Amino acid sequence: MKILSTQEREILLNSIRDIPDFPKEGIVFKDITTLLNNAEAFKTLMNHLTERYTEYNLDYVAGIDARGFIFGAVLADRLNIGFVPVRKKGKLPYTTVAEKYALEYGFDELEIHIDAFPKEGAKVLVIDDLIATGGTAKATVSLINKVGANCVECCFVAELAFLNGKDGIESDVYSVLKF
Ligand code: AMP
Repeated sequence: MKILSTQEREILLNSIRDIPDFPKEGIVFKDITTLLNNAEAFKTLMNHLTERYTEYNLDYVAGIDARGFIFGAVLADRLNIGFVPVRKKGKLPYTTVAEKYALEYGFDELEIHIDAFPKEGAKVLVIDDLIATGGTAKATVSLINKVGANCVECCFVAELAFLNGKDGIESDVYSVLKF
């Protein structure tokens, strides 16, 4: 498995900006829109993730609403596998399974289609832009298990390591960048 080089790490670190006090006082928001509009940084990230996950023999990538959709959909296409959206409550049109969870700044509820993974016992990678407290990721892993699939790893572009969010997630966790 290819390790992120120091130069690639620098490109990615320099492409994410801190927005203090968003969405409320005391939160330092990691803004990845400046990674997305930087073609070199976006490609560096997607090349790294493609290299890492090619050997996992995954069946699906599941992206978390909403920034996980961007990275997840590109990665799924690169790996020639399907993409599954895990959405905020009330957005999915067919029969869903739901899970409530606590955020770093509030509460929310996620849903997945009951038939999201047509392949039985599917191997799924979960992806999102950032892990903070880990509540969103834990709810997502729980949803994937509830609909009969198997989360093999949760992947994040960035991890707020001081919040220990990955503790208690019932799958491997990979964070490209740690803060
Ligand atoms: P958590 O459930 O606490 O791990 O929160 C993760 C979710 O909230 C992800 O979807 C992130 O996009 C978002 N999030 C939480 N905290 C931040 C932060 N400081 N900067 C950017 N996004 C965040």
